[in-house]
Amino acid sequence: MEKDYRDYYEVLSIPRDADDAQIKRAYRNLALKYHPDRNPDINASREMKDINEAYAVLSDREKRRRYDLYGHAGLEGYTMEDIFGGVDFQDLFREFGLGDLGFGLLDSLFGGRRTKTRSNRVDLKFELTVDLTEVAEGAEKKIDMTREEECPVCHGKGAKKGGIGRCDRCHGTGQIVRKQRLGWSIFQQVIPCPSCQGRGEVIIDACDKCQGRGKIEVQRSLSVHIPPGADSGYTIRFKGEGENGGDLYVVLKVREHPLFERRGDDIYLQKEVDMICAALGGEIEVEGLRGKLKVQVPEGAQTGAALTIYGEGIPHLGRGGCGDEYVILRVAIPTDLSPEGKDILRQFESLRKKAAKV
Ligand SMILES: [Zn+2]
Ligand SMILES: [Zn+2]
Repeated sequence: MEKDYRDYYEVLSIPRDADDAQIKRAYRNLALKYHPDRNPDINASREMKDINEAYAVLSDREKRRRYDLYGHAGLEGYTMEDIFGGVDFQDLFREFGLGDLGFGLLDSLFGGRRTKTRSNRVDLKFELTVDLTEVAEGAEKKIDMTREEECPVCHGKGAKKGGIGRCDRCHGTGQIVRKQRLGWSIFQQVIPCPSCQGRGEVIIDACDKCQGRGKIEVQRSLSVHIPPGADSGYTIRFKGEGENGGDLYVVLKVREHPLFERRGDDIYLQKEVDMICAALGGEIEVEGLRGKLKVQVPEGAQTGAALTIYGEGIPHLGRGGCGDEYVILRVAIPTDLSPEGKDILRQFESLRKKAAKV
């Protein structure tokens, strides 16, 4: 792939001592001018590629340092993924207030081929199980989790100060030549040095804090606000609480309640009433989300009848008011009648027969 080596500072039209804010401002202005969504010229798209690349390098401390020291040669060990991996263009454009422009920017520039941004940012997902009564009231929950963070002592390098040395295997070039036999021929191929992953340098004196890993495990304790009415799948994003600047997504899972079945913001309760109450009507006490409730059973109530208790369901998320509670009746026929009880029922039966004949 041919490549013209343009000076990154020139591409962004900034002085060599520009600070991060200047770099960002310059990038923003140029992106507005050359973004493929705004500028259909094919040259603009080419220009945008250079602008992105310049920004990706100069906004990254380590890449900029290498570039300042060695120019483009300093970045030879990096793949395109490495170069662009450190920048979240979507986030960046969102920060500019131009959210939709960041979406798929790299895709459009690299001809639809997904330039997998091997950023080391990792979004984490945490499933938080709560009770129905908790979402009915709203709740504050604490979650404890472990995540990895860049080691604060060595800043991710994994080595003590001066503890990085030249890789012997590749003599600091970051590349080695691999010979491969294919049939009768021997091919030579230049590949990134496996000992140093193409960096050209290795850790000689490992950082004590992270034992050379460059990262440490961090315990985090976060407070999660659950708004009244939230349901399973409700997601709360904690920006920057993932790994290496990624985000944490706390996804709610509402535990099934032993009595109530949730349908939207309404709840359903199966309730047994005795035969006499069902026949004569009367007030009964039923379970509610917020305590006991009283409800009137109408005379002659049947199994399957639904009694509505307005406003005793789950709060409507974010818009005030509540769903309803439905009490579904099941009429219980006594199975333990005493001889006197049976007698009374027989009397009642003959009374009905007489009434029917009249
Ligand atoms: Zn360290
Ligand atoms: Zn090496």
